[in-house]
Order: sequence, then structure tokens, then C-alpha cells
Amino acid sequence: MSTITAVSTPDATGGIAVIRISGDDALKVAEKVFVPAGKQVISEMKGYTCCYGTAHDNGERLDDCILTVFRKPHSYTGEDVAEISCHGGIYVTRRILRTILKNGAENAQAGEFTKRAYLNGKLDLTQAEAVMDIISAKGERELRMAENLREGTAFRKAEKCSGKLLKILGDLSAWTDYPEEDIPEVRPENLCRELMEVRKELSSLIENYDSGRIIREGVSTVIIGKPNVGKSTLFNCLSGCERSIVTDIAGTTRDVVEESVKIGDIVLRLSDTAGIRHTDDLIEEIGVNIAEKLIYSSELIIAVFDGSSPLTQEDTDLLRKINSRKAIAVINKSDMGILPEVPEETGKYIKHTVYLSAKKNSGLEMLSQAIEDIFHINENTFSAPSVANERQKKCIDSALSCVESAVSALENGELLDAVNILIDEAEQYLLSLTGKKITDAVVDEVFSRFCVGK
Ligand code: GDP
Repeated sequence: MSTITAVSTPDATGGIAVIRISGDDALKVAEKVFVPAGKQVISEMKGYTCCYGTAHDNGERLDDCILTVFRKPHSYTGEDVAEISCHGGIYVTRRILRTILKNGAENAQAGEFTKRAYLNGKLDLTQAEAVMDIISAKGERELRMAENLREGTAFRKAEKCSGKLLKILGDLSAWTDYPEEDIPEVRPENLCRELMEVRKELSSLIENYDSGRIIREGVSTVIIGKPNVGKSTLFNCLSGCERSIVTDIAGTTRDVVEESVKIGDIVLRLSDTAGIRHTDDLIEEIGVNIAEKLIYSSELIIAVFDGSSPLTQEDTDLLRKINSRKAIAVINKSDMGILPEVPEETGKYIKHTVYLSAKKNSGLEMLSQAIEDIFHINENTFSAPSVANERQKKCIDSALSCVESAVSALENGELLDAVNILIDEAEQYLLSLTGKKITDAVVDEVFSRFCVGK
């Protein structure tokens, strides 16, 4: 394996920066760039030790640094690793990196350190993917989910299922391939029971996936309602700044403004739209059309109504358009008093109702609770083992559908050969989930999503 290097800290000014070198020649390269202040000989340094010294480029002193040595296999990548911690200036860090490159290391690709950790058996594929989630975690509960994944709970569960399927495959082939041997008969009802257990375990792994995905990626959300109900005020109140133009003249929000806001633990990818109403103004009409499309493409609709005045035909038309989509009826302007018929009517179309005053910034907790209810987010979302991304979900979905077909094949009295093929297929999907059997293309795809230096 070549020796690779990259700056592992952000490309920004900071207290310190860390440049990582990994590979067979990591210490040799470090020796050419780093001169210890004391008597240490880098090639003789033990793992988990460090020394103080200076980084040089061909005799030119660059910076005071600390060199930390990790010996294979006890390093992040499983290879020899040298890490140089220097002052965190962008220029000095890049200069040292260039010197390291000049002395025999190659630029690390995105995620290459973690890819090597995976290839050297330090992490399984699901754990490697979790490293990326830990880096991008934006909140406590999201971090807890990623940690859970890195600890390998989902992996162990999938591995247990894979082991069970392998045992079934073994029993089946022993029974069908060696009929003359004294091998216990494989009884379809027992087989069916075992497969149902696997099915249950696999289903539990994807149960929380959607709510987990919502926590990681946020919910695409559209705020809609007729003009002047307070959409822009609500949008601004959620995003904490005056982004949309708020006025008393109906139709002032003409295009779609987008912003990510965090409410409770959930990130809403918000679009505030032009007030939906019939209009002769061409520009406004374009905005209205976009708004109508967003109703169908967004995962969550926040439909705003003015609770202080009776609903109009426009409100009713809007309620009809929402139909059975995931939506919250926000009855706004609660500071002016709410007419009971407003929530009565919206309640016929939308299950979740929230009363708030966007102007007075009150009632937002209720909105947060309603969102958690809609997406089934609870404590379990963060602690139960779950797959983390579409790749993993697809593997489990495919394995699950093979197991389900195998169960129906058994129930329909089909030949064990057919069942065998289905179970074998399910097993292949589980092996590709954990990365035990996977194509290079998939591995490359997984690691291409990482940042350089990790
Ligand atoms: P939009 O057209 O739906 O985006 O409505 P705006 O956000 O521009 O608000 C229209 C008017 O309603 C403005 O004068 C706001 O100050 C007012 N408004 C918005 N929310 C509230 C509220 O909760 N209470 C009261 N009293 N007025 C509000």
C-alpha cells in the first residue's frame, strides 16, 4: 500500500492542525520532514508515543510541531501512522503538507484513511459509514445514533441473521445433497419458523430508518396558506431573521425563500411560498404555481390559517389540496383570539392542529411536538439499532423480500431447492450490507462521500 497524507483538521485557521501520514513508509517520510528536539530516533519510536521537534523543508525551518507515532495494527487505519501537529495556520499547514508530499507520500483521497481502516479489518462497512455520520452530526441525539452505529449494534444484528441463514443453508444442502447419510430431515414448518425469526430481526433494523433519516437529513417542508395569514412572519420566527418580506399588502411574497431551521431535534428544510390564491399578476402566478407543486413534493406541509377571522373559499380549496398528506394546521394569530369554527373546519382535513402566534413567538413547542408525532420520533429512534443510509436499507429490504418469498414458498409446499435459492440470495444481500462480500465499485462509492483527511 502506498503512503498517503492529508490534513485531518479543517482547512481553516485554528489553534493546531494535524497532518496525518499513513502507510508502510509513514515513519520514513516523517523522518525526512520532522527533526526531534531531543535524542529520539523516529524509526525506533514505539506506538502511542510522541515527541517535540521542528518541521523542515530541505533545511528550512517551517514550524514547531509534535509528532505522534502509531504502530500497525494499532492505529486508525491499521497501518503505521505518523501525525504531525503544527500551529493551525492555513499557510504553514499547507506548506508542511507540500513538504511531506515532496518526500514520498501521496495525496489521500476523500475517506481514504477510513477506507484503509475498513480494508485492514479495523471497521466493518456499516461502522465506517457511521464515522461520516459522527462527523456530520448536528445535535446530541443525532450523534447518539451515529455512535450506536459505530459500536456495531446494527452490524451485529445483521451478522446474527446472516449466521442463521447460513446455518439453514448448511442444513438444507446436507439434507438434499447427501440423502444416503443419516442426516436429520429438514422439516418445512421448522424452517418456516426459523425464517420468520430472521424476518422479525431484519424488519426491526429498518423500522426506525425513516425517523432516523429525518433526524439526519431533515424534512423538506413547505409553509403554505392564503396571503396575509402570517406565513412569512412564521418563517422568520422559525429562522430567527427577517428573510421574507413581511407586509400588510396581500401577495408580497412572490418567490420561494428557502432556509434550514432547527426545531427541537429536527431540521426543517423550509420553503416559504407565495400566498396561494387566484391572481392576475403574472409574476405572482409563477410563485403560486411553484407553491402548488411544493405541496406534492414536500415531506411536510405547514398550512397556516388566520385563526382570528373566518375561513374563506381559498382556505377550503387549500385544505382540499392537502388531502391526506403529512400536514400540520397552524392556527395563527392566537394573540387576537381564535374563532372555534376555524380549527373545527381544518380538523376535518388535517389531523394535527397547532395554535400559535408567529408575531408574539409563542406556541412553537407545540409545533415541534406535532412534527415529532408525525414522523414517529421518540427515544427509541436514537437508541434502537438501525441501518443508517439508503445503501444499507436497500440491502436489508432485498434480504427481507427474499426471506418473505422463501416463507411463502414453504407455505405453498414448493420444492426445497427453490427455497434454498431464495435463502442464498438473502444471505448475499446481508454479506454485502456488512461489506464481507461487496464489489470495489460499492466500496469506492461509500468512501467517496467522506471528506479528505478522514
Ligand atoms: P403572509 O402573507 O401569509 O406571509 O403574511 P405575513 O407574514 O406577511 O403577515 C401578514 C400580517 O399579519 C402582518 O401585518 C403581520 O404582522 C401579521 N401577523 C402575522 N402573524 C401574526 C400573529 O401571530 N398575530 C398578529 N396579531 N398578527 C400577525
